[in-house]
Amino acid sequence: MKKLYNRNPLGKSLIRSTALLIGVFAMSFASFGQGNSGNGGNGGNGGNGNGNNGGSSNDLVRIFNGSGSEVGIMVDGKVKRTNRDDDAYLSTTSPITVDKYVSGNSNEVIAFTENRPVQLVTNVNWTSGLDTVDVTFDPENVIDVTIWVVYAPNGDFAAQEAKILNDMLTTTNYFEAERLGVEFGNVTIVDATNDPDAATYYDFTCSLRNGIQADIGETPGQINVYYTRTVDGGSARGQACSIGSDFVAMAAFTGNELLSHEFGHDFNLVHPDNITQYFDRTNIMHSASNTRQWLTEGQTFRATFQSGSALNFLYNVRPGIPFRNCGGTSTNRTSSCPEIQRRLWSDGTFPSN
Ligand SMILES: [Zn+2]
Repeated sequence: MKKLYNRNPLGKSLIRSTALLIGVFAMSFASFGQGNSGNGGNGGNGGNGNGNNGGSSNDLVRIFNGSGSEVGIMVDGKVKRTNRDDDAYLSTTSPITVDKYVSGNSNEVIAFTENRPVQLVTNVNWTSGLDTVDVTFDPENVIDVTIWVVYAPNGDFAAQEAKILNDMLTTTNYFEAERLGVEFGNVTIVDATNDPDAATYYDFTCSLRNGIQADIGETPGQINVYYTRTVDGGSARGQACSIGSDFVAMAAFTGNELLSHEFGHDFNLVHPDNITQYFDRTNIMHSASNTRQWLTEGQTFRATFQSGSALNFLYNVRPGIPFRNCGGTSTNRTSSCPEIQRRLWSDGTFPSN
């Protein structure tokens, strides 16, 4: 028996009421932006007019289709003959005033905000005059998933379904609040507890991955999630079975935050456990925790831009846009990628950096 949730009810009362508010902000953002943009053609004049000393004008970054939440940007360019890489600015208004950039080794802007995917503008044309760069956020990436319930404690499918919806709600809230910009669209929950093959997969290990998909079912083109009794011998464990997967197995009694971690593996993220200077158990990708909550901007950038992320190879959310393959635990900043521990906002006790 299939249960189909069309734009599932994952706490949408909470999310949607925020969205209403956001809509108003977004409109004011947009109209502000358009006002500027109307002048924009003239804008060059305006800017130059102000700047008798043309070369000393601060540059501007205009934000379009934001969510109303604070926007954080990382800017590459050159200031005073020094190349800059990922200079940070935070702002709740648009335009954002930035430094006086001229063309450097790398010229781009990366932008982050809640309820939106990470946005990248490349080949920014920084000049010695007043430059205005436009960043238009894409709408949130909506992905469909299928969830197969192979085992339900006490044979109570409805109770397990409620637990699963809580897992999905927690995941959605983290991905939106942590600025990954992913939400779930059609979530199909299948009661496979009466499948004659179900018991074969109650105690899941990754050697059973092909079997569970052949015997229980698999929806092509989506991440498929299987709720079993145990995973790797534990009743609270999960498995993506590889980094950059389209698969998740979850044991029956997992914490509500674990599903976001396994999706993170599907999005090509790896465990940062060894980078103890910058990560602890509060990070969603820590391997052993029940207090997962945060993603760094270095992580959301990787999940969005690496070719091995299911957001790209499976859902193709950024068609035609180049990939950035950064290295899963790279703690060094490069011109193409922020370091894995980069934070524009603090994550609990870890400050912005
Ligand atoms: Zn893991």
